[in-house]
Amino acid sequence: GIKSLFDLEKMAVLGHGSSGTVYKVFNRKTKSIFALKVLQVDQYVVSIHRQTAREAEILKRVDSQYIVRCHGVFDNGFTETEGGGRGLCFVMEYMEGGSLQDVLRVHQRLPEHVISGVARRVLEGLHYLHGMQIVHRDIKPSNLLVNDMGEVKIADFGVSHVVAGTRETLDSNMGTFAYMSPERFDPERWGGDNADGFAGDVWSLGVVVLECCVGHFPLINSAKQQLDWASLMCAICFEERPEMPETASPELRSFVQRCLEKDWTNRGTVTELLGHPFVKKRT
Ligand code: ADP
Ligand code: MG
Repeated sequence: GIKSLFDLEKMAVLGHGSSGTVYKVFNRKTKSIFALKVLQVDQYVVSIHRQTAREAEILKRVDSQYIVRCHGVFDNGFTETEGGGRGLCFVMEYMEGGSLQDVLRVHQRLPEHVISGVARRVLEGLHYLHGMQIVHRDIKPSNLLVNDMGEVKIADFGVSHVVAGTRETLDSNMGTFAYMSPERFDPERWGGDNADGFAGDVWSLGVVVLECCVGHFPLINSAKQQLDWASLMCAICFEERPEMPETASPELRSFVQRCLEKDWTNRGTVTELLGHPFVKKRT
């Protein structure tokens, strides 16, 4: 693990999220590079902050090739450069390739064999997390990171608790709501109160896979792409699954269909989908 934030030197900003900033940092002691996420926490969410700090301890026990490694969590670090607010710092494995969102921005669409590999790794990661009774809750392209070997790993579980939540924070966090399952978006209608949460991660994966295939957020008409609450509600909870391109294989279609089943009790499970022809290694 990392002993102290003072060993870390900021090199560059890797990106901004709704709740903070991610830096590329250099560890002077070990001469190695990490990513450092600094979450800005307002006074009124300090109780959530405490809870997150506790949950963050779990992060350090997570050890899987499919999950971005967390090397340490520090409370109240780097505040002098962050406008004096409270900050919660996560030292993470540095992922050279950036996020799947970055990849999609450059390539628009991905070929199916690549999407299949991404889906397989995310399923393996979810299988691991769910086995530890951890629900990710924020599977989306910007939380799937790529290393220099082209391997995709899941990032930012647990962190999402701070970001998600109330409608007050909606404007800044539409990106997080867009990948939410019907039972989380509208629990009353879709039986969300009985859901264990695992099925929600599968839904989000389905949206990501479809996005990789069509090249834009797939649940809303590509022309508007306006992520307001009402359009999202319609798209997620009421509308039929969007059309897939003619070129999509039957395996991909069937995979997406199993993920985007609105009724979570009928949705494909991680275990089922790990055996799906779309992600099975074709050797
Ligand atoms: P979001 O996931 O909503 O984009 P984050 O604050 O989690 O917001 O991350 C912001 C950006 O920083 C990401 O989109 C990604 O490009 C980059 N990033 C996050 N974590 C890492 C990491 N471990 N290694 C490299 N880049 C990262
Ligand atoms: Mg993130």
